[in-house]
Amino acid sequence: VDQPIHEFVLGGAAEFGDTPALIDGTDGTTLSYEQVDRFHRKVAAGLAEAGVRKGDVIALHSPNTVAFPTAFYAATRAGASVTTVHPLYTPEEFARQLKDSAARWIITVSPLLESARRAAELAGGVQEIFVCDSAPGHRSLIDMLATTAPEPEVDIDPAEDTAALPYSSGTTGVPKGVMLTHRQIATNLVQLDAAVTAGPGERVLAVLPFFHIYGLTALMNAPLRKGATVVVLPRFELDTFLAAIEKHRITALYVAPPIVLALAKHPAVDNYDLSSLKYLISAAAPLDAELAAACSRRLNLPPIGQAYGMTELSPGTHVVPLDAMSEAPPGTVGKLIAGTEMRIVSLDDPGKDLGVGEAGEILIRGPQVMKGYLGRPDDTASLIDVDGWLHTGDVGHVDADGWLFVVDRVKELIKYKGFQVAPAELEALLLTHPGIADAAVIGVRDDNGNEVPRAYVVRQPSARDLTESEIMMYVAERVAPYKRVRQVTFLDAVPRAASGKILRRELRERA
Ligand code: ATP
Ligand code: MG
Repeated sequence: VDQPIHEFVLGGAAEFGDTPALIDGTDGTTLSYEQVDRFHRKVAAGLAEAGVRKGDVIALHSPNTVAFPTAFYAATRAGASVTTVHPLYTPEEFARQLKDSAARWIITVSPLLESARRAAELAGGVQEIFVCDSAPGHRSLIDMLATTAPEPEVDIDPAEDTAALPYSSGTTGVPKGVMLTHRQIATNLVQLDAAVTAGPGERVLAVLPFFHIYGLTALMNAPLRKGATVVVLPRFELDTFLAAIEKHRITALYVAPPIVLALAKHPAVDNYDLSSLKYLISAAAPLDAELAAACSRRLNLPPIGQAYGMTELSPGTHVVPLDAMSEAPPGTVGKLIAGTEMRIVSLDDPGKDLGVGEAGEILIRGPQVMKGYLGRPDDTASLIDVDGWLHTGDVGHVDADGWLFVVDRVKELIKYKGFQVAPAELEALLLTHPGIADAAVIGVRDDNGNEVPRAYVVRQPSARDLTESEIMMYVAERVAPYKRVRQVTFLDAVPRAASGKILRRELRERA
């Protein structure tokens, strides 16, 4: 692909004209394709007029709104790189990202303005804060629509210039700025086309955040490129989410495992007409096959398809193609996408390639591998080796037909007396218990200094009397002795990142 991302995604916008591109799932505000196309050009002119230059970093600090894509593509059209920011960050967390990315500009929304101001003060170096809506004393994107300034003529090199600078989720350490070029993002969209057929007439629900690479790709770039309609919600709240599916006749859901869990288990699901749904895709964290099957049965959908990737991979490498959802083996995250290579290497002997059915670390090489971590050449070099292989840190195996199964992260494996136990496997098993609403597993040291699995369990409201020993028994009856859960702690909620991942780090700190 040899186009900047805004050209690549919005190239068909004129043709889709009056088709609704974005609908606000809360108040119904709608932007057509013609408007998104015109607005992002005007805002690009407004940003250039305000002083934005090629190579500047703009921090986009907003929940999902209908204006988000306009802000994003305007920024790239003005030649900037966009670093997307978690809208719930504290000013201190936001300031860290501003500093790390050397952002010169912020685009925010008025309810978050105070936090953005404080972050800018703490970080220094921010020249101006723009707002998407309106706020006294700040230039707004709405004002920019009236500018008479010419559209900026910026020379963008799609192969070299950074379009997006998302930060990795910070599940395993500090979030790192991931430099993704225009070409890397656009190429990955083409590679993922087999799964993302959403075109005119498809309606996807954007409840996962646009600021995370999964939402940015699956819920913004991909559907807008194809002329689908994106219904946006600012956060996941089950009833609002279900009501939006019913009201907007949503056809496709791209979600993460916690939403699959809610769809499979929560009683509220039966109160809504979800018959417009045609398929559901889950990514970002391990999804158990039984849970997936329970969800698709309940919603009367084809088997749930998974995708696999990471921020550093723009983000995708594997997906279950839509036309293969029924034949894909349960639990698979999909097949390798076009133009990408994979190896699975031994955890004990990293030079050794493994065969069918053998679990090891997943290595990836392809055009979607990031340019690097911003300002962290050492971290980049330890992730991507001299031959261009990116070491994912995930454990997986493939079957004879090439379907990949992800076991867990290498770092999360619990080493119990020489055996390896995957927390994801125990979590999946715990969730099959009817009295368990949610669960997370970490390794902790017992009195003898052994690392043992400890389960954190959220009980269903109807199962308040479920005990620790009953839970340990339930697991013990179903796994090899070395995998037994040895401790149980009850919780009100499992801590999770916005992308749906369990924050085992937080549980470890608590432990
Ligand atoms: P950080 O790198 O900052 O610790 P993170 O790895 O959670 O955070 P992301 O890039 O958002 O940040 O997540 C990528 C990771 O998500 C993968 O390495 C993998 O562990 C997990 N993942 C993604 N898709 C799947 C899937 N379908 N099944 C299992 N795990 C998945
Ligand atoms: Mg990671």
